[in-house]
Amino acid sequence: MPLIVLWDVDHTLIENCGVSKEIYAAAFAELIGHGPVHPVVTEGRTDRSIMGDLFQRHGLVPPPWAAVEQALSDAGEAREQELARRGYVLPGVRDALEQLRELGESTVSSVLTGNIRANALVKLRAFGLDEMLDLSVGAYGADGKERFELVDVARRRTAMAYALPLGTPVVLIGDTPRDVEAGLRGGAAVVAVASGSHDPDELVAAGADTVLPDLRDTAGLLTHLSAIAQRGAPARPGRGRGGTS
Ligand SMILES: [Mg+2]
Repeated sequence: MPLIVLWDVDHTLIENCGVSKEIYAAAFAELIGHGPVHPVVTEGRTDRSIMGDLFQRHGLVPPPWAAVEQALSDAGEAREQELARRGYVLPGVRDALEQLRELGESTVSSVLTGNIRANALVKLRAFGLDEMLDLSVGAYGADGKERFELVDVARRRTAMAYALPLGTPVVLIGDTPRDVEAGLRGGAAVVAVASGSHDPDELVAAGADTVLPDLRDTAGLLTHLSAIAQRGAPARPGRGRGGTS
């Protein structure tokens, strides 16, 4: 049974230990000439949204997106080694990615992340995870302002590249209520993982029907994914509970 598995990056696959927020701050400084005074708020938002909010909080009109994306990309590239030094891969991740890869071409493993593609690549490459995922598909922070908009982008991009039907079930694996909301609104199943700053109760309250404490139980995760593949895509994509964006 074909299945499109889309991983969130930060706090799901890797822990960036503050490097991510330093990338936003450095990009802001490159564009404005000084660092941000107000904090960077991420929380599962897309890079478009994070940077837009940051400029707004400083009473500034955001520069054109192309300039912002370039600054983010420059800041990310400059910090790959720092990320490799300070950050780490979350428990169970390598095993899970390896086992998914062994399922063959019918299971596509990619990302749905708020990071721009260049920085998703930096973050995964720092730990050698980039080769375990197909980053030519999936969806990234430049593909939409709100996370739920990325689900359809990823579905179409992946289905086209792999010649899969558009009705192929999609599952998001992520750590924030926004990952859950994206799945509900985008017609994807969700496996929520309480490896970030959100506890299982918050993820259940957001509407997740599967919440794992972490990714250590590879066999358990694969059982959930196999059940999702067999159940097929939700009958009415777009049904959402909303309220978290
Ligand atoms: Mg995350």
